[in-house]
Amino acid sequence: MHDERSRELYDRALSVLPGGVNSPVRATRPYPFFVERGDGAHVVDADGNKYVDYVMGYGPLLLGHDLPQQVESAVQSRLADGPMYGAPAEVEVELAEFIARHVQSVEMVRFVNSGTEATTSAVRLARGHTGRDKIVVMQGGYHGAQESTLVQGETGAVASPSSNGIPDAFAAETITVPFNDEEAVRNVFEERGDEIAAVLAEPILGNCASVGPVEGYLETLREVTDDHGALLIFDEVMTGFRIGGLQCAQGKFGVAPDLTTFAKVIGGGFPVGAVGGPAEILEQFAPTGDVFQAGTYSGHPLSLTAGLEMLRFAAENDVYDHLSDLGDKMRSGLTDILEDRAPEYTVLGHDSMFKVVFTREGPRDTEGQCEAGCRQNPDCPRFGYCPKNRADVAAAETERWERLFWPAMREQGVFLTANQFESQFLSYAHTEEDVEETLEAYKEAL
Ligand code: PLP
Repeated sequence: MHDERSRELYDRALSVLPGGVNSPVRATRPYPFFVERGDGAHVVDADGNKYVDYVMGYGPLLLGHDLPQQVESAVQSRLADGPMYGAPAEVEVELAEFIARHVQSVEMVRFVNSGTEATTSAVRLARGHTGRDKIVVMQGGYHGAQESTLVQGETGAVASPSSNGIPDAFAAETITVPFNDEEAVRNVFEERGDEIAAVLAEPILGNCASVGPVEGYLETLREVTDDHGALLIFDEVMTGFRIGGLQCAQGKFGVAPDLTTFAKVIGGGFPVGAVGGPAEILEQFAPTGDVFQAGTYSGHPLSLTAGLEMLRFAAENDVYDHLSDLGDKMRSGLTDILEDRAPEYTVLGHDSMFKVVFTREGPRDTEGQCEAGCRQNPDCPRFGYCPKNRADVAAAETERWERLFWPAMREQGVFLTANQFESQFLSYAHTEEDVEETLEAYKEAL
């Protein structure tokens, strides 16, 4: 595999872009390949190497790299009408109506430009609505590069910033708890429930190897927030319109939050974010309410057109069935391979998300284990070993994954997300043959 051109580009990039990249996760070692173009389920790099792509832009590309004709035409025709206006356009109403029609907890939507902006705005809205300052987040949850959630801390204690440049005073308004630990979140609410504006949680820890909720955990979050007059915010930036199909992860797991943040898929590959919820809360955003929120590019016509047409395509075709069938094929294929090669490793993921976690211990007998990735089933022999939270994923062989396994997959033409923590994504463009080829590569690399 040649990579002279990528190397040369990285050399130039290091002089003008900090670390040579515009988002740290892209700085794979020793240097990233530069993508020249996408092609269905594949990307082609600057040296002409072709990879089966499971990064899919870190989630937005539900249909893969080639937009269906109806999406491409709609985007091109929108572009021909001028890129943006600074006045409302019909497509904003149409996409908001589409989301409200399919996601039960959503009545109104405020569009923004990224997932980070969505979670920042949702937290401000929750604080404005409740008149309280503290928020509770999950350890290992990711809500973008924003001040309230780039924090670290012991369970239930006052958090500290996890990045330089964030004042201690900001982080002190955030409390962290381990995902899937009912007692921890109940204790936090017992001690300081009347100070807490919201719990902000991903329904699946998508940035932590896609660890799923144990039975009853999301219901507990719903119950404690209700009992203490706090809001429950589901961050569905990654899971929205990917997990659970059009009803999103909240529909799949049957727990309705007060607010939902979206991004990724609803922009069809263009920058977008959104906060959704009931009118009673959403109307507290300016101009109807006193929670200020604004943006020059918010509700960008190009992003919203791409998102709307992609979602319409998904609603009219067998997109979600194809994705969950392929996901099951991938996860059960991986489960079979691990049984033979590395029985201590664990397969995680739902629908079109998947990840193999290099856990260090597993059951002696895997008879009766979850077939297509961990379902947090208490009767599964692996249940006690399956990652439940960030600490469990961090305790896995993260160095082996990143330094040996990732390059070995790349060498075989498979592009995985850059580390043990980020989920991987199938798209409508992936085929059974792609999955089979990928499973062979896993066999080789493990
Ligand atoms: N929330 C979740 C769950 C995410 O996965 C991400 C990004 O990966 C974000 C928020 C931040 O979104 P963005 O990168 O669009 O700012």
